[in-house]
Amino acid sequence: MSESKTGDGDVARALAKESGGLYKLLVDTVRDYAIFALDTAGNVVTWNAGAERFKGYRAEEIIGKHFSVFYTDEDRRARKPEKELVEAEAVGRVEDEGWRVRKDGTRFWANVVITAVRDSTGNLIGFSKVTRDLTERRAAELRAIEDARRVASADSATKAKAEFLASMSHELRTPLNAIGGYADLLLLGVTGELAPEQRDYLERIRRSQQHLLGIISDLLNFSRIDAGRITYDMQPMLLGDSIRRVLPMVEPQAKERGLTLSFVGGKDLVACADQAKVEQILLNLLSNAIKFTKTGGSITLRQISADDRVGIRVDDTGIGIPTGSLESIFDPFVQVGRTLAGGPEGAGLGLAISRDLARAMGGDIVVKSETDVGSTFEILLKSEDSAPAGH
Ligand code: ADP
Repeated sequence: MSESKTGDGDVARALAKESGGLYKLLVDTVRDYAIFALDTAGNVVTWNAGAERFKGYRAEEIIGKHFSVFYTDEDRRARKPEKELVEAEAVGRVEDEGWRVRKDGTRFWANVVITAVRDSTGNLIGFSKVTRDLTERRAAELRAIEDARRVASADSATKAKAEFLASMSHELRTPLNAIGGYADLLLLGVTGELAPEQRDYLERIRRSQQHLLGIISDLLNFSRIDAGRITYDMQPMLLGDSIRRVLPMVEPQAKERGLTLSFVGGKDLVACADQAKVEQILLNLLSNAIKFTKTGGSITLRQISADDRVGIRVDDTGIGIPTGSLESIFDPFVQVGRTLAGGPEGAGLGLAISRDLARAMGGDIVVKSETDVGSTFEILLKSEDSAPAGH
């Protein structure tokens, strides 16, 4: 605090020496700083435009008054004004940041520098005082701290949520596996012949159990992605290969629902991505297309490329998605319409997971849709050429 790094003392000294000269003019017209002089007792002797602007006093109202009027009651009781003058006299300069009071009683956050002014023989003749209004800066700082705090608590809330989902999913899986296992045993006839109705009921139990298991694995997946616990094995991969691998998995469902499922072939495009994740995304898009397309409709797959992206496009002639919901379908747990399959609903996590996976691989999922006409979902991925060095 004792080092004098700025030139305020010089200004005051010059002011003292050359009042009426250029420096006085300069100081008088400065509006962004309150610059004024105090006598050795702390009474105001000069006043500039900045001082008037910040503190609200005109020169004739304040000259001759003790500078402690600028301090809060608390600071005055603690004799802070007097102490600052003693310190400035002792070490040359005092700097302080704190609340100061305007003429109308309102407070502002100020940076204050008090410098002792001495004559050529070293006698103290008074003090210069330079005050900056930092109210705006302080408000900005407080806002920044508040923002940081909010982000930090959102982060830990996300983590807590992910951990909760992960442990819940795990706890739910164990009894569900038992339900499936015992249903299987009964279906195998280990406890004796089953009547057709019993078999039918058991199959329903089995299907519901499978369905719940699927939702739970979605939850688990989602919480893992959320917690950033997924790793990606990015490699050059043939999109056509993935399509040919996934298609047979959904063919029975499509057939059961009377839908035409086709892959418009062509040259296989190469993406740089994690193949298993791409297939997981594709499986999800195809399952949706099947769920939301009426009997007799069709689902078509194509490879696409544009700029430095390649991808897979899934067109369906299904019920479509209202324009207003196009963005929200990617939010977790959002479902717009009921499925046409009549089966149990999903958890509304499929697209949220799919898009998170695609984005994590440097890609994206985009959708276009028209109600009652159909939907187009595109998985966009980095093309092999756009991948960084190494290939
Ligand atoms: P889920 O399939 O479990 O409901 P998703 O996240 O996969 O969850 O999908 C969210 C919602 O988006 C669906 O419930 C549905 O309303 C809508 N949707 C997704 N794909 C299609 C599609 N191909 N056609 C019409 N609506 C769709």
